[in-house]
Amino acid sequence: MSKKTFTLGIFGGGQLGKFLVKSAKKLNIKTFIYTDSIDSPAIYYSDDFIISSYEDKKKLDFFIKNVDLVTFEFENIPFKTLDYVQKKIKVSPKPSIIKILQDRLKEKTFLNSIGIKTTEFYYLKKINKKSLSNNIFPAIVKTTRLGYDGKGQVFFKNKKDFLKYTFKSKEYIIEKLIDFKKEISITISKNKTKSVSYDAFENLHKNQILQKSHIPANISAKLNNQAKEIAKKIANKLNYIGTMCVEFFVTKKNELLVNEIAPRVHNSGHLTMNAHDVSQFDSHIRAVCNLKLKKPKRIHKAIMYNILGDDIKKYRSKETMSNEFFYDYGKKVIKDKRKMGHLTKIF
Ligand code: ADP
Ligand code: MG
Repeated sequence: MSKKTFTLGIFGGGQLGKFLVKSAKKLNIKTFIYTDSIDSPAIYYSDDFIISSYEDKKKLDFFIKNVDLVTFEFENIPFKTLDYVQKKIKVSPKPSIIKILQDRLKEKTFLNSIGIKTTEFYYLKKINKKSLSNNIFPAIVKTTRLGYDGKGQVFFKNKKDFLKYTFKSKEYIIEKLIDFKKEISITISKNKTKSVSYDAFENLHKNQILQKSHIPANISAKLNNQAKEIAKKIANKLNYIGTMCVEFFVTKKNELLVNEIAPRVHNSGHLTMNAHDVSQFDSHIRAVCNLKLKKPKRIHKAIMYNILGDDIKKYRSKETMSNEFFYDYGKKVIKDKRKMGHLTKIF
């Protein structure tokens, strides 16, 4: 592969990678995917790809040699890998940020340290289980690392059930279950000097997996602006470069609590592909490549439905209406609860 044209290296080959590749193509940027999974839809669209372990130094060296900049579509790329790569070539967003955001304890501690509210939480390794106050229940226990789509999470109604439970992994946090009014998220893209963000998406989860997102969110303009300001503060404090998504709980008292931060493009932002003049994927490519960012303009109202597991089969044979956009991620293996595609309706 020639290095003459600018080539963006992307770790991860899932649907987020696939949409990033498509956006890069529009900007005449070549892409090179590095993934550890054979079932990676992005590789069919990128200019080049490697399928190997994230620890394979030889392959990593080849990848580094053939790209001009590296980003990722998935935050659980081992930090060691990102650190190895950044010693030789720029990685955006910075791996030191990922180290914080890969770990729920570090993430929430960081947020609280800059004055941003989260749920009440405790680090389970540090405290004596028995000393936990009853007031934290009902609660959720989450692994500090490697959780997504509700993986690594257990609910507890009361302390009695919690004390009886045997945990498999070692590092957990316990957090209070929030009786929230709704969930929203803000997607923000930042280059070296400037950031742009989308208005809030309103999100509905089922079994801790995103079921649907819609815009505009049914919240006040004031709350929307507050959420955008919080996302901006986080991005600025981290000197972030790229696209990031901040997930919030809106409490019954209209208070905003940050649930978590995804240091990447996010499922709730898929509808930007059809509802806005510039998608979250376009914005991410612009941000990491330090191109001029476009302030996103919403053209339509929209709702996006995730398609999980076997449901994809129904959609594959269904006709879509003129205001519907069906995306089949093209994953070879259908698994229960696996994100297989999505449908966006615009109005
Ligand atoms: P993941 O990394 O799996 O997305 P999250 O922490 O975002 O993990 O949890 C997934 C979903 O589970 C949330 O979007 C929310 O619907 C629900 N959830 C998680 N934590 C809480 C909480 N403390 N109170 C109420 N609901 C929660
Ligand atoms: Mg989440």
